[in-house]
Amino acid sequence: MSRQVYLDYAATTFTAPEVVSSMAPYFTQSFGNPSSIYSFSESNRKAMASARQQVADVLGATKEEIFFTSGGTEADNWALKGVAWRNRSKGNHVITTKIEHHAVLHTAQFLQENGFEVTYLDVDSEGKVRLEDLKNAVTDRTILVSVMFANNEIGTLQPIAEIGAFCREKGIVFHTDAVQAVAHVPIDVRAMNIDLLSLSAHKFYGPKGVGALYVRKGVKIDNFMHGGGQERGKRATTENVAGIVGLGAAIELTASRMKEASGRVGKLRDMLIDGVMKTIPHAKLNGAPSGERLPNNSNFSFIGIEGETLLLDLDGAGIYASTGSACSSGSLDPSHVLMAIGLSHEQAHGSLRMTLGEETSEEDIRYVLSVLPGIVERRRAMSPLWEDFLKKTQGGK
Ligand code: PLP
Repeated sequence: MSRQVYLDYAATTFTAPEVVSSMAPYFTQSFGNPSSIYSFSESNRKAMASARQQVADVLGATKEEIFFTSGGTEADNWALKGVAWRNRSKGNHVITTKIEHHAVLHTAQFLQENGFEVTYLDVDSEGKVRLEDLKNAVTDRTILVSVMFANNEIGTLQPIAEIGAFCREKGIVFHTDAVQAVAHVPIDVRAMNIDLLSLSAHKFYGPKGVGALYVRKGVKIDNFMHGGGQERGKRATTENVAGIVGLGAAIELTASRMKEASGRVGKLRDMLIDGVMKTIPHAKLNGAPSGERLPNNSNFSFIGIEGETLLLDLDGAGIYASTGSACSSGSLDPSHVLMAIGLSHEQAHGSLRMTLGEETSEEDIRYVLSVLPGIVERRRAMSPLWEDFLKKTQGGK
């Protein structure tokens, strides 16, 4: 079997074997409904309480502030709709950014269709929100600010502590979609003045289909799921006990390795970036410099090629990467994130995201660097776009 290199950890991670083992008993042995009062369900309730504590510990929260959800999308929907509905007598203005994940953007659009006003902040060429722009956008009707912690496509980290301090001073609820950041970069919800935070287990070696919303004590938010009294009456449905246990185990495990893992992965990522920039003519690195982006993220544009064909060629070489947003793959629209940082349609279409993780090795990166330049060169040789580009730049390479 030829080499296989998975470089799409931002789309999803594998579930760590120790996490799978921690979940196993809750499928077959401790399968009782946690809401049942008999002693058979006691172990489930205990397991959920300790998972809640594990999540709280990593965020610097208390376990009463953690509510389990079905993933990042639900947590984002709940945060935006829950705050908007609860506060609509105070105001109808919501501020977010142009580079949010669709879980936030499409929810914001839904709010607009239902009488709310939404401001979408611009970002600079590295994908960063300017605090000044936020200050200028706030009105006396602003009830919510939602700015992602780290971008899923280009990895840019936002000035979350500054935004949090400003929102707290103004008395505006501050939500951050931290799905790509949790357990990968340090987060302290108290020090950063974060009121609501979304996370998802499958981005840090936990199972898919389970996440959480942190809601700071005292912040009022309407229910999103109506039904039974689970999650202290805030989120109905019989709890995904095994998933919740897996989420707890994964966040603890990944956060405990954060320092060592981000150092190792960051070095490999820099090796990849250096190699690509040196060997591929007219390659463009999208996003911020090393210190201001997720340690595992690289995102390039190769003018003259279509990202989709690049992915197919890489797939043929056993390399799995992505173009644009992984969650919207299948769409041919250029990525809204790459457009927001000022790329042309052509640059956005020729983008390649490679995100590294636990099992990425130096050999993997060497292999990618041995294959990618040839693929780009062959595709460009067949591309009228590349021919045009060369003509425009006077035949220069
Ligand atoms: N927010 C961000 C920044 C993401 O990257 C993703 C998934 O890629 C989501 C939200 C959605 O998370 P989930 O897949 O758990 O619904």
